[in-house]
Amino acid sequence: METEAETRRTWAEISLDNIAHNMHAIRAALPAGTKFLGVVKADAYGHGAIPVARRLETEGADYLAVACLDEALALRSAGIQAPVLILGYTPPECVPELIARRVTQALGSAADAAAYAAAARACGGTLRVHIKMDTGMSRLGFSWEDAADIAAACRLPELEPEGIFTHFAMSDLPGDAAAKSYTEMQFARFTGTIAALEQAGVRFQIRHCANSGAVVNYVEMTALDMARPGILLYGYGDSSGRLGLRPCMRLMSRVCAVHQYAAGTRVSYGGTFTTSRETRMGVVPAGYADGLHRCISNRCAFAVPGGMAPQRGRICMDMCMIDLTDLPEAGLGSPVEIFGETAGLDAMAEAAGTITCELLCSVSRRVPRVYR
Ligand SMILES: *Cc1c(COP(=O)(O)O)cnc(C)c1O
Repeated sequence: METEAETRRTWAEISLDNIAHNMHAIRAALPAGTKFLGVVKADAYGHGAIPVARRLETEGADYLAVACLDEALALRSAGIQAPVLILGYTPPECVPELIARRVTQALGSAADAAAYAAAARACGGTLRVHIKMDTGMSRLGFSWEDAADIAAACRLPELEPEGIFTHFAMSDLPGDAAAKSYTEMQFARFTGTIAALEQAGVRFQIRHCANSGAVVNYVEMTALDMARPGILLYGYGDSSGRLGLRPCMRLMSRVCAVHQYAAGTRVSYGGTFTTSRETRMGVVPAGYADGLHRCISNRCAFAVPGGMAPQRGRICMDMCMIDLTDLPEAGLGSPVEIFGETAGLDAMAEAAGTITCELLCSVSRRVPRVYR
């Protein structure tokens, strides 16, 4: 598992047990019988798609979802057997590969339906699809008003329309009345069009729309046949605390140098920080190339033995500085938690003007993932 080489510089500790815990906690919040799809796109939000998918499969996840073909093929090559849905676009040339590797494809337009069906016919196979319906996200998908196009796509003999789904634009803004009515409108469009399709004899085995925000804020309304959480699975997002979810990644480093500076010393590029007193400054070998956004320079703090150390000066590509003056327990070689248990990712996301998803996905490839 953990080797000295991996933990010498900067590393991400991943708790697969916490991911399993989160999956079961989310399941417990869903109406009985709701299927569970684990979203493992973007390398499982930075946690490592293959180990995460393996664990979810072992824990009984019904479906996995990724963003693109390469992510799906990586799961299949690693021996993952669970159904895998590609949420994004795949070019029709790749249909033979989708069929051969038993990957389910989102289908969002009449043109794609025709091209996929032609490609499936040419290779003598059937492509399993989930119809993607746009109900207000204004991204991919058949318009909710195009029930006739959806029905026509579903009647193509080379396509097997197993499911239908939509994506909410504002389900994660609780307490915002406009967001609530927008979500309700999206849901009404979704179920209204499904009802019209059923009238026309087109039925779907798996209807799904609940992303993390919907699981948290509208679970009874939106669960339908399957829930589709991403960020919640990794322990973040509003109400992750209420559901008892646990963060699954700790971004760790070690103090690699300690210096004593006189008052009036300027620190790092641009001299944006000047010591106001005699200062004991630690160097942390983690920078923006590891995923530490430069925009939070001078506006974040990391957990070290004895407390939180304020970050000082511009964050560089490969390292940054922290103030250890008031933290005598911390010194050369001390572990530094950039985010995780004590140093909250939510606060860092707020400081960066972004969301926790983006920070998790930013932890770069050169940061080894260490599984516990
Ligand atoms: C990314 C994604 C999800 C998961 O979103 P979270 O907000 O992380 O739960 C669900 N559905 C679709 C279509 C997505 O693209």
